[in-house]
Amino acid sequence: MKRDIARLKTEDFDLLVIGGGINGCAIARDASLRGVKTALIEKDDFASGASGKTTKIIHGGIRYLEQFNLNLIYEALHERGILLRTTPRLVHPLEFIIPVYKGDPRPLIMMRTGVFIYDMLAGKSNIHCHRPLNKDELMLLERDITSKGLKGGVLYCDAQMDDIRLCLDNAISAYQAGCCVANKVEAEGFIKRDGRVVGAEAKDTLRGEKFAIRAQCVVNATGAWSNRLVWADEPHSPAITRPTKGIHIVYKKLPVTRAILFSARKDKRILFVIPWRDYTLIGTTDTDFKGSCDEVYATSDDVEYLLNEARRIFPDEQIDKKGIITTYAGLRPLMNTQGVAPWKVSREHFIKESGAGLISVVGGKYTTYRRLAEQVVDRVILSFPRKRESIKKCVTAAQGPSSAASAEGMRSLIERAVKEEMANSLTDLLARRLQLSNSRSLGLAELEESANIMAGLLGWSTAQKESEIRAYKEEARKNTACLD
Ligand SMILES: Cc1cc2nc3c(=O)[nH]c(=O)nc-3n(C[C@H](O)[C@H](O)[C@H](O)COP(=O)(O)OP(=O)(O)OC[C@H]3O[C@@H](n4cnc5c(N)ncnc54)[C@H](O)[C@@H]3O)c2cc1C
Repeated sequence: MKRDIARLKTEDFDLLVIGGGINGCAIARDASLRGVKTALIEKDDFASGASGKTTKIIHGGIRYLEQFNLNLIYEALHERGILLRTTPRLVHPLEFIIPVYKGDPRPLIMMRTGVFIYDMLAGKSNIHCHRPLNKDELMLLERDITSKGLKGGVLYCDAQMDDIRLCLDNAISAYQAGCCVANKVEAEGFIKRDGRVVGAEAKDTLRGEKFAIRAQCVVNATGAWSNRLVWADEPHSPAITRPTKGIHIVYKKLPVTRAILFSARKDKRILFVIPWRDYTLIGTTDTDFKGSCDEVYATSDDVEYLLNEARRIFPDEQIDKKGIITTYAGLRPLMNTQGVAPWKVSREHFIKESGAGLISVVGGKYTTYRRLAEQVVDRVILSFPRKRESIKKCVTAAQGPSSAASAEGMRSLIERAVKEEMANSLTDLLARRLQLSNSRSLGLAELEESANIMAGLLGWSTAQKESEIRAYKEEARKNTACLD
């Protein structure tokens, strides 16, 4: 992927997509594959927002059954089937167990019935049918969870994904289809002609240069940041998103082979303990967030809440802060609904168009990104009445994103990340291309060597290299500051 600022400055695009999370990357990919001349800009890095901070599950969402949101579950389960089929290297089946204990807010019958309906809704795209478990059967499958007060449970199947790589691969695939892609380019405002949005005022944050990008249609896919661009277009319009924070703990490997879904005692929310690589993920929280969307970290209260709830399920594991490798936090770009608890806000996505024609994406789940992208591009096409015949059909339900060529060894991996995957900071490399920031070393063991190789490839001065190292260490510190 070549970061082609000259092209961004000089060409007229059909479509400009702002935001390189999963939604923006997928919209850019879908549009480019259909022959729409597209540009994609991201102010930081692909998957640096919510799309790199998820629970990493592709799922219908068992908990939406309680809200009778059957349409969302049906759509998400259908999308789960498509992703398992088209992108098997990044999305694979994962078994979940729901143990139900005396005093749990959701009775066993409710959980079993719920999973039965879940399987029914999946229909042909079901992975395998659920299995009710009595107490002994459950303890045979997961012998290290507590049996105290256990009434029984149920086993069902969803999927686990590599959220960061899936997002990156969508960006790469968009580029391969002709999209002009650039990270470290921020949209600061809009260009308008006759009251219509016809491009964006942008800033290359690597060089500080400002320039205009011209496009017939502009999509705001900036997730939790969406309100800023909505207000740049229409200063007095209401907020479209209500960002809520979710954190995860990356914990040392707990003795579970399947994911465990259980109800929190404190607030009845559904929580997960999930085997992930050499570790266990414990998540997540869901709290309203009023701070800067660029500074989102776990607090010690967030961590205590999750540890307390997990401790109940694994009383023999002495779960405490000492077992935590690190934490990560992200913002859900939920639709702005007031008067309900954050975890009760709908996870459906919506497409909104302003009076000036700015199309904004609101809400949604990672799982349904492909469908969201298809719907947005269908909508975008309506703004090109003269071109409509030449635009091809959506192919993403049959064709998953491709990946960059494989590489082995630290130097080759770094060369690939820099030359083919647009890594231009040490954090891009270690946190997202190599995904080492959530490993035991936090990427710090690999820091010096990586910085030296990157400096050579990108022509960094010694001062620039030192500043990159400092920035990476600072991010690692902020993710673990809640453990002090
Ligand atoms: C804790 C947590 C756990 C979750 N777990 C799951 C899960 O397991 N499964 C699931 O299906 N869903 C999950 N979700 C939901 C899912 O992560 C989101 O719905 C999805 O990632 C949103 O993607 P996005 O592209 O809209 O937003 P983001 O990924 O946040 O992308 C927006 C991007 O826009 C960029 N940007 C902002 N302003 C500008 C600008 N002015 N110019 C250029 N770029 C800009 C940002 O830098 C950012 O990269 C989870 C969410 C959270 C927070």
